Amino acid sequence: MTLDPLLREILVCPTEHHARLEYDETASELLCTECDRAYAVDPDGIPNMLIDDARRRGSASAS
Ligand SMILES: [Zn+2]
Repeated sequence: MTLDPLLREILVCPTEHHARLEYDETASELLCTECDRAYAVDPDGIPNMLIDDARRRGSASAS
């Protein structure tokens, strides 16, 4: 699944730092380099930008 290049340009992390996101095409996730959150992109190419739904990378346990 490819993400709309325009979306890729404008999407930033919804947390307070608003860091740019990197798209991981293999995992269909948008990765924030600032807070290590991963936002899932659904099969229609719509990213889920809800902070509560974001996967935390780095730490295996959700604490
Ligand atoms: Zn972030």
